[in-house]
Amino acid sequence: MRKYSSEQQEKQMVKKIICNRCGKEISAENGIRTEGVFSVDFRWEYPADKDGERHQFDLCESCYDRMTAEFVVPVEME
Ligand SMILES: [Zn+2]
Repeated sequence: MRKYSSEQQEKQMVKKIICNRCGKEISAENGIRTEGVFSVDFRWEYPADKDGERHQFDLCESCYDRMTAEFVVPVEME
């Protein structure tokens, strides 16, 4: 979840990011975040039941680690 510096939303710089899973606030100075964030902005398409829905969320690094630790097949890394 992203909090912007004005009501004009996405045209403005991100002021802080809130982890959707744990609620941790990650501040962003001049649009530059102070720690790692996993950001998802995904639009579902046919044949998904969610066809046409845009889903957005942010996770802090430790919540990302918890989420991926549940994967049967590990994340591919370079
Ligand atoms: Zn978190």
